[in-house]
Amino acid sequence: MNILVVNAGSSSLKYQLIDSVTGIASAKGLCERIGANGSCIEHKNLVKGTKTSLESPMKDHADAMKLVVNYLTDKEFGVIESMDEIGAIGHRVVHGGSYFSKSILLNDDVLAKLELCKDFAPLHTIAHLMGIKGCLDTMPSKPQVLVFDTSFHQTMEPEAYMYALPYKYYSEYGIRRYGFHGTSHRYVSGEMAKILGKPVEDTKIITCHIGNGSSITAVKGGKVMDTSMGFTPLAGVEMGTRCGDIDPAIVTLIMEKENMTPAEVNDLMNKKSGFLGITGLSSDMRDLLAAAEEGGEKGERASLALNILKHNVKKYIGSYAAIMNGVDAVVFTAGIGENCGALREMICSDMEFMGIELDKEANAGRSSDPFRISTADSKVAVYVIPTNEELVIAQDTAAIVEAK
Ligand code: AMP
Repeated sequence: MNILVVNAGSSSLKYQLIDSVTGIASAKGLCERIGANGSCIEHKNLVKGTKTSLESPMKDHADAMKLVVNYLTDKEFGVIESMDEIGAIGHRVVHGGSYFSKSILLNDDVLAKLELCKDFAPLHTIAHLMGIKGCLDTMPSKPQVLVFDTSFHQTMEPEAYMYALPYKYYSEYGIRRYGFHGTSHRYVSGEMAKILGKPVEDTKIITCHIGNGSSITAVKGGKVMDTSMGFTPLAGVEMGTRCGDIDPAIVTLIMEKENMTPAEVNDLMNKKSGFLGITGLSSDMRDLLAAAEEGGEKGERASLALNILKHNVKKYIGSYAAIMNGVDAVVFTAGIGENCGALREMICSDMEFMGIELDKEANAGRSSDPFRISTADSKVAVYVIPTNEELVIAQDTAAIVEAK
């Protein structure tokens, strides 16, 4: 079944058309500046290897969806004859709160619950609602399925997801750890379990999704035991522009010292911290690596940012091995995890005590397929597994629609 996978942002919309059986994407693209001047669409036909772009007014996500469908069915750039060849639409949704523990077919009740998720992730949820509405307007008869970044983490026990705040903040406002990047952790831990070749129930896997946003997850027996992101995607390890875990008292101190509003301090922690905040240079790992290589004052800061990330990730790996009473495999994925051998080497060095032995030569390699980077003797298998969140969304969507 052809599934149109949609990832709607507030002014953007990414899409892919994926065959849920073969897992192959035939087209992908991006609409940008929706609702603003200069809206444009970039469309790629992955079968022919062609790319095209067009500046065209899009006042809302429904306009964007119309353009997407036009391109998908276009004589020259398209990959299907008509809209009838799209079986269903699968939406990536960032936050499902405690309402959604698995992917779900859209109906009025689901839509009403998704509205409530605005409390947790207002900007993302509003954008997803616009994307869904755009699809309802353009393709009213197509089934739509929601796939949540949070749902894989819903297996956590209260001891992992509760914060030690007064209980009413949990019961009244739903303040707890939710975790994010769930589709990615689910995909790579599932692929890792297959490689280990034993029943999923017997596996203990730590997945390190390290990209612009990063999170580390402990998956025991196919279920999440803990994850580094929290109530929002701000918690955990240092990221491109996000600070990750800090002492909460720092927030009130900075607000008092610099006379900042909650919105300003939120902006500081989400957009001006992490690699960017430490180096004053960039949020991009490639720039940090180049600066560290060059040396000097900028290089020292870049090295510091790299060392903080290494230290953070090592701490999570060690603590997750402790809560799972061991670990069979560690997986690296996402932009940095898949491509940055230097950071993987920093993280996996001096971990022999827990059975991790890196094969430096294998670690220097690169592949679009999963590859092992630990030695043959390493007790813990360490792998790089490219993530594929869109495929998970397409497969969930097809399975739900077929079971209807
Ligand atoms: P993502 O959010 O998963 O797209 O990851 C983005 C991050 O991956 C950015 O910090 C990039 O600098 C980083 N990245 C991409 N390619 C490489 C590479 N070849 N080496 C190091 N970092 C990379």
